[in-house]
Amino acid sequence: MLELEEAVENILSQIEPLPPETVSLSNAHGRYSAQPFVSGVDLPPFDNSAMDGYAVLASDVVAPTSDHPVLLRLTGKVAAGETFAGTITPGTCVRIFTGSPLPPGADAVVMQEDTRVDTNDTDKIWITDSVKPLENVRFRGEDVRAGMPILQAGERLTGPVCGLLGATGIAFASVFRQPIVGLLATGSELVEPGQPLRPGQIYESNRVGLSGFIQNCGAIPKVYPLIEDTLDATVSAMEKAFSECDAVVTSGGVSVGEFDFVKAAFERLGGELSFWKVAIKPGKPFVFGRLNNKFLFGVPGNPVSALVTFFLLARPALLRLQGAVKVRPLSHPAILTMPIHNKGDRRHFVRVAVDEEANAHPTGIQASHILSSLAKADGLVDVPPRTEFRQGSAVRVIRWDQ
Ligand code: AMP
Ligand code: MG
Repeated sequence: MLELEEAVENILSQIEPLPPETVSLSNAHGRYSAQPFVSGVDLPPFDNSAMDGYAVLASDVVAPTSDHPVLLRLTGKVAAGETFAGTITPGTCVRIFTGSPLPPGADAVVMQEDTRVDTNDTDKIWITDSVKPLENVRFRGEDVRAGMPILQAGERLTGPVCGLLGATGIAFASVFRQPIVGLLATGSELVEPGQPLRPGQIYESNRVGLSGFIQNCGAIPKVYPLIEDTLDATVSAMEKAFSECDAVVTSGGVSVGEFDFVKAAFERLGGELSFWKVAIKPGKPFVFGRLNNKFLFGVPGNPVSALVTFFLLARPALLRLQGAVKVRPLSHPAILTMPIHNKGDRRHFVRVAVDEEANAHPTGIQASHILSSLAKADGLVDVPPRTEFRQGSAVRVIRWDQ
């Protein structure tokens, strides 16, 4: 049986990013860059005003107050998007707005709130507070310099990153293609939600749960009809999904029962199984295999096992298919509010809810069919075998709302 890290390594070692495609920046959000970006411009591109007010020479307005204001002569106005043709000389000022280029000669901006227009002569501006040289000025290149790297290949185009690229004039980005992930659920007992149940039947819930995780990590789920527990039905459903998708996630049918056909069906299609079991709880019987350049992630049917194994094992792979360099889930420290005792010989990923003070509260019964304790959880605490974490222990929470 593999340790979790060995299993993830095994999977990632077999996965290359999908081919890149070019998309407009407005469609690039959440995708992973297939190219490095270097800024072609300085940002800001020119010295400009941080305020609505008056561009001045700071030496003209050293010590005014509202009782003893300094008088300056207004020589013009420069709106955002315009430039000022003249130069600011001692005793003069220019009306200026946030983002307007700083007129030549000016070295500071007095904000409008510290000024007064003379009631008899609108070309006379009374300055009622001092400014220091360079005050309220935003400098060319202080944010980004031309030639500076702004994104590496394999990094995510978040909203702020797209904003930064747009600010440097980038309109298109080369990003890795998003995998289409087939979602299959095996089990003759399963019924589509919304349909009536007969005795012994249950509603199918794994595809919709997995679909959420698949979308969250940027891949595209494709949901297939339910599969009854026969080898033939499993083979034909998997064959169709593998022909239409980049990766296939099956749920159920990977244990040792006589109705568990996923592995046999996969081998019937010519797939190669890489490993079957991982030493974690919930979710020991997880299967990973490869069919040409496509991948099988066979998660157990128990709803908690299905979601936890997907999150720990399949999610990194779907991120790597999209070209992501960082594929491990984020985690953060928290304080445990109740003891957790793992008496078993597999690592236990315990469901916890995290409050605003970073206290981690175990969410209830931790068995692999108890979906309500998973639904309440914000993440998982990795508890080693035969280990007790006392109340008040510092733990790490692996967040899965990411
Ligand atoms: P299996 O892994 O197929 O042995 O299923 C283990 C348990 O999970 C059984 O109790 C199944 O009824 C249940 N189960 C399997 N697949 C699903 C599913 N897609 N939705 C809800 N429960 C399931
Ligand atoms: Mg089953």
